[in-house]
Amino acid sequence: MADRDGYIWYDGKLVDWRDATTHVLTHTLHYGMGVFEGVRAYETPKGPAIFRLQDHTERLFRSAKILGMALPFSPEQINQAHLDVVKANGLKSCYFRPMAFYGSGKLGVAPMKNDVQVIVAAWPWGAYLGEEGLEKGIRVKTSSFTRHHVNITMCKAKANGNYMNSILANNEATADGYDEALLLDVDGFVAEGSGENIFIVRKGKLYTPDLTSALEGITRDTVVQIAQEMGLQLIEKRITRDEVYSADEAFFTGTAAEVTPIRELDRRPIGAGSRGPITAEIQKRYFNIVKGLDAEHEHWLTYVK
Ligand code: PMP
Repeated sequence: MADRDGYIWYDGKLVDWRDATTHVLTHTLHYGMGVFEGVRAYETPKGPAIFRLQDHTERLFRSAKILGMALPFSPEQINQAHLDVVKANGLKSCYFRPMAFYGSGKLGVAPMKNDVQVIVAAWPWGAYLGEEGLEKGIRVKTSSFTRHHVNITMCKAKANGNYMNSILANNEATADGYDEALLLDVDGFVAEGSGENIFIVRKGKLYTPDLTSALEGITRDTVVQIAQEMGLQLIEKRITRDEVYSADEAFFTGTAAEVTPIRELDRRPIGAGSRGPITAEIQKRYFNIVKGLDAEHEHWLTYVK
């Protein structure tokens, strides 16, 4: 990824893509103490629009607060950085990676508190779990790795180091021929995917795990609102893996994963083993919203002008 044309917003300036580098003694590279976001912009009839930018930036600042990290930029500056990178790179649609990390000022577990650097990068990125996955659904495996405990690394921060757990789980699942992993919490209840929240449908009702051991997903929140508008009952509760096995439908949500149907968990087909009708309707509404085809939800879009 390092070798391409374009610009990355780096500590307040647009830097040539290949020059957006850091030293090998960068603190976060050693210990994973950093925070980041995953944001998307879609092509709309009025040009590129960033979906729920304000909410992503707010979560970035909440994540930093949880880690006790002071960001040297304001939320407004971070929002503007997103707009700047879309324009500088001439992108129509993209994935953004804002990240704050400790620099190379000092190693050891105690970072130099005023050595925080921030980047916002953006590049074109298609369907995270594949176009076919969006249509036909993906195959998922319950992970042998447990999701973080609320008192170990916590779950509300989108923190760099937390993703070691996600990578281990995803690597295990994909090495076994699956598309993604489903992680259980320390008590054995369903938490989330390696980078997604999960929903199941049973007898026309929607269920999703409470947020004790899962990231507060912005796509999850969008789907909660879509469900309300569809008149679907939504129940937030602890969910067991056998409830997923016996669900009529299941799907993952995430900025990268969007709304991806799950057609199989641990070799058990979910429902008919294909994208279910409620999932399809939620997916359709989601894509209409992010692509600027639903005037009711235009307040979630930040147009790049
Ligand atoms: N859980 C985890 C662990 C994630 O990494 C993500 C992706 N950010 C999500 C859930 C979904 O969050 P969002 O919908 O805000 O992208």
